[in-house]
Amino acid sequence: MSKFVGCLLFSLIFALPAASPAQVDASGHQLARDIFKQLVEINTTQSVGSTTTAAEAMEQRFLQAGFPQQDLYLGGVNNRNGNLVVRYHGTGAKPPILFICHLDVVEAPREQWHTDPFKFVEKDGFYYGRGTQDMKDNDAILVASFILLHKQHYHPDRDLILALTADEESGKYNGVAWLLKNHPDLMKAGYVLNPDGGGVDLVNGKPISVDIDATEKLYGDYQLVATNPGGHSSLPVPDNAIYHVADALGRVQKFKFPFELNAVTRAYFQRLSAVETGQNAADMKAILKPNPDPAAIARLSENPVWNSMMHTTCVATRFNSGLANNALPQRAAAIVNCRVLPGYTLRQIQQQLIRVVNDPKVTVNYAANTGGVLATAPDKKQHPPVAPNPEIMSAMDKLAAKMWPGAPVIPTMATGASDSIYTLAAGMPSYGISGIAIETNDVRAHARDERLPVKSFDRGLDFYYQFIHLLTTQN
Ligand SMILES: [Zn+2]
Repeated sequence: MSKFVGCLLFSLIFALPAASPAQVDASGHQLARDIFKQLVEINTTQSVGSTTTAAEAMEQRFLQAGFPQQDLYLGGVNNRNGNLVVRYHGTGAKPPILFICHLDVVEAPREQWHTDPFKFVEKDGFYYGRGTQDMKDNDAILVASFILLHKQHYHPDRDLILALTADEESGKYNGVAWLLKNHPDLMKAGYVLNPDGGGVDLVNGKPISVDIDATEKLYGDYQLVATNPGGHSSLPVPDNAIYHVADALGRVQKFKFPFELNAVTRAYFQRLSAVETGQNAADMKAILKPNPDPAAIARLSENPVWNSMMHTTCVATRFNSGLANNALPQRAAAIVNCRVLPGYTLRQIQQQLIRVVNDPKVTVNYAANTGGVLATAPDKKQHPPVAPNPEIMSAMDKLAAKMWPGAPVIPTMATGASDSIYTLAAGMPSYGISGIAIETNDVRAHARDERLPVKSFDRGLDFYYQFIHLLTTQN
């Protein structure tokens, strides 16, 4: 025991100062908080806001911190949807890391909130305001991390690029897509970190897991539609648009897309099987084997999250039909929303739905997110994911053990889409990573009275600051 203590003492005195990344001090936390307040109070909604205003404010901060003008790019498709790209120069020993952070927020009707959503209010240990969870918290954390590292003359082993962008939530001028198309050189990186995904799940203050979004499913809406001549409901005929579409939906409901794992969902179940117990742990181990046990798949599929990790899913979300209570319907149309596993195109899913529906009276169209309906779905697909980057996993394991002891780091496949969809399509592996810890029953992104614990924000800064440090000094 004394030998151990001696060892510990030795490492405390001699080893730790060199090995451990510097911490963020009180003035660093104050800086991040000031930036957070400034960003929340700049309205960046689609209706009346401007990401350009926010981008310009951040540009000023970088200039004041000593970043040269030529390392800052401000621009966009118009003067309301501006983006800022900042380059922090490193040694160039490795390809750059690109951080993508959207500046826009969803609408926040004042009358639905207890506080002004565009005032940064601190109350009862929380920060309130639109964007406090999604994602002006991490915008501020990344801006502050860059400025603090720069202030300390930190020289990373590669360039760090921060893109603060427009139109992630809605609108047609997505900043990441626009920058990749118009300024690919500014965005070129070895991989992408997107703090819009991932994060730490808390239950009653206890960290349960540290999630990394390592790939994403693809979003696709399909319209099932049938038409009839109509007529008086007192004289019904068998050919009825509502019955056709309803029967088709029944077949969609019964159909299960095949079980499939990829490099990320394998890692997900591997790591989860180590913390789960009993039947769940046994089933997870069973599905990782070459010939997975169908009974294990069926049991795990009863959990909606695990089900979504193993299958493409399609579910009815809307139904419109009929003109009057006493008229035969001339038209019935339903929307089926699909979340598609990487590797499959939206068109392949459409063809599969046509086979499942199996009724020439029901047409299966693709419902584009622009509002239009297309007879043929696009050929778009999410690239099959690669195994999570070991450099990232090792840095995450180290930091998580220190900051959230006992909570496993779990790579996951996001079931919704983020801006990573554009960077993935550009061939850059992209990871949703955040040090923000939120109670699983207090997720308020897009909701009223959006709020973030003060402590989560402070620790979120501690996390990203050290994470960047660890990633870019490892070798
Ligand atoms: Zn977001």
